[in-house]
Amino acid sequence: MQSNVQIDASQLPDEQGRFGTFGGVFVPETLMPAIEQLREEYGRAKADPHFQWQFEELLRTFCGRPTPLYFAERLTQKLGGPRIYFKREDLLHTGAHKINNALGQALLAVRMGKKRLIAETGAGQHGVATATVAARFGLECVVYMGETDMKRQALNVVRMEFLGARVVPVTVGQATLKEAINEAMRDWVTNVRTTHYLLGTVYGPHPYPMMVRDFHQMIGDETRRQILAVEEKLPDLLVACVGGGSNAIGLFHAFLKDENVAMVGVEAGGTGILPGQHAARFQGGRLGVLQGTKTYLLSDEDGQIQLTHSISAGLDYAAVGPEHSYLHDVGRVHYDYATDDEVLEAFQVVAKTEGILPALESTHALAYVIKHAHEMPPNQVVVVNLSGRGDKDVDQLARRLDRLT
Ligand SMILES: *Cc1c(COP(=O)(O)O)cnc(C)c1O
Repeated sequence: MQSNVQIDASQLPDEQGRFGTFGGVFVPETLMPAIEQLREEYGRAKADPHFQWQFEELLRTFCGRPTPLYFAERLTQKLGGPRIYFKREDLLHTGAHKINNALGQALLAVRMGKKRLIAETGAGQHGVATATVAARFGLECVVYMGETDMKRQALNVVRMEFLGARVVPVTVGQATLKEAINEAMRDWVTNVRTTHYLLGTVYGPHPYPMMVRDFHQMIGDETRRQILAVEEKLPDLLVACVGGGSNAIGLFHAFLKDENVAMVGVEAGGTGILPGQHAARFQGGRLGVLQGTKTYLLSDEDGQIQLTHSISAGLDYAAVGPEHSYLHDVGRVHYDYATDDEVLEAFQVVAKTEGILPALESTHALAYVIKHAHEMPPNQVVVVNLSGRGDKDVDQLARRLDRLT
């Protein structure tokens, strides 16, 4: 599983926000000034040592960075294959990697003088991260969430409300993430002068895919230092789950130029690769434009977006971040999937061998490793991104695993 493609990742995206044929800016005219302002301000912030210092200081003291790189000794022994390490993003404040990006964009909003944050959320994890940083900086916060998701993720709705956010139910269509994003965009068009749209993954119009990637880049930078310190070599394989793709890009980016580091992104295989039963965009997805960007998405022959399914709300979306589409097409990253059943099995294995309850999203990456470990020699090293903790998922898991009466 070695890649021969060498990529100068620092060159992408181009000025128009394109990763090869993917990405770009596909938004209504009314949003162009806000997008322009964001692009310019982010460019200035990136080059400003004070901004970088603020970001790093709060990542350390508020969020809990750097996160450890943990040797999963018992899982390694059990599988009898490569040495397996977990990058512990699950130990961050609010329970997942999402706080990295939320903090970066909140600092940027303050810099732009915006007093109001809006966000979309599916499972509620990004909503909680956004509500958290809004409270920390004294900003008003409105989170759009599908009514179906609000019922499924009632605990996260309460968390957001405790943090002072207003959660607005979206009732149109499937009443899930896609509709919530449309509502957030509509709000932004109306309130651009006062409002920053805090997008939750490496998706949407430029500069979001680039900016969100940059705000997660420390995941890979830290991993690089940490693995060199213990193994005295780079990892042979990196594995991460891919919803929009932010935790995966965060881990992969620092290694893209290292030809001998293979990478696998794991999508949601749901109940199988049939229309409407999964969210694996690289299993039969087509090129299309959705919510601001050009990328692989699940649509029918008429271009209608297909329904998706995953046991994990955080991976349940019809499109994937444009940089992943690029990395897929040039062959630098291999994309595979794990099914709901494989995820349920992997969750129980990791809980019992390592004493960690991983988020259902992250468990897709673990399921891949459990399935393929026997194909790799024991002297190899694998790093899995443990993007979040599973506390949010225990109700759903208990129901699925028949632990409730
Ligand atoms: C939201 C979420 C994901 C999926 O988002 P990406 O942008 O693909 O990282 C993965 N893991 C956890 C724990 C999440 O909360």
